[in-house]
Amino acid sequence: MAKETYAARCTANVLLTPRVYEAHLELVDPPRFAFKAGQFVTVPVAEGVLRSYSIASPPEDPAWLKLAVDIQPGGPGSRFFAELAPGQDLKFQGPYGAFVVRDDALPHLLFVGTGTGIAPLRSMILDLEKRGIAHRRITLFFGVRFADDLMYHDEFLALAAKYPATFTYIPTLSRPDGSHWPGETGRVTTVIPRLLKEADAEGTTAYLCGSKEMLKEVTEILVGMGMDRKQVKKEQFW
Ligand SMILES: Cc1cc2nc3c(=O)[nH]c(=O)nc-3n(C[C@H](O)[C@H](O)[C@H](O)COP(=O)(O)OP(=O)(O)OC[C@H]3O[C@@H](n4cnc5c(N)ncnc54)[C@H](O)[C@@H]3O)c2cc1C
Repeated sequence: MAKETYAARCTANVLLTPRVYEAHLELVDPPRFAFKAGQFVTVPVAEGVLRSYSIASPPEDPAWLKLAVDIQPGGPGSRFFAELAPGQDLKFQGPYGAFVVRDDALPHLLFVGTGTGIAPLRSMILDLEKRGIAHRRITLFFGVRFADDLMYHDEFLALAAKYPATFTYIPTLSRPDGSHWPGETGRVTTVIPRLLKEADAEGTTAYLCGSKEMLKEVTEILVGMGMDRKQVKKEQFW
């Protein structure tokens, strides 16, 4: 079913990494947009061309939202966001999607994101923090190619420092080439089996976001570790 169309104004469009723009959008008409952390919007990026983007910001203020857009794919969506300038108006529809943390999620929340697949996970994690995560255990695996692709890295490090007993952040680089990276290397599909204990699979609801291939491989790893397939929630970007 078609959702309401919103008019918004870009107030800033900043590079989070060398290839990912964060577009800050302020609602114009209607002036408020209600959504749940993890949902996405569709944006007409050219005549007759719609692209979907997860909301990267938490639903703390219905007057604005932020999108994190990788411009590497190079198609009409990438071009639209690479050229989006402060003051420019755009339209979007939404919110769409059931990729949200439901109240009946199990106590351990496992988040696995690759590339801009981190966007809805960031929204969920910041929203959970706001709602109080003391009773939750959260593990976040974030896979990118290079160190400078790690958007929101400082924010996740700060959360891990603030909640050392409950929030575990594991960034991993598949191409650490010469970056003196002290952390994990390899794709999430090799790091997860090594670092996630079988005991962790119990009582876990997982949220995976990224490519079709990653979603499929990580799902099989988690199910192989004893997780119920129904507890693996997925959002496929490409
Ligand atoms: C529910 C949903 C939410 C999404 N949220 C986001 C988001 O928050 N941020 C974001 O950057 N993208 C997101 N996407 C992807 C986005 O909708 C577009 O596919 C992307 O911007 C490419 O569009 P384009 O017109 O530039 O390229 P196109 O010409 O449409 O695509 C070029 C090729 O790139 C592939 N591709 C698309 N995205 C990527 C990617 N990130 N990395 C590698 N290959 C890719 C496509 O499958 C295609 O083969 C989401 C997709 C879906 C379905």
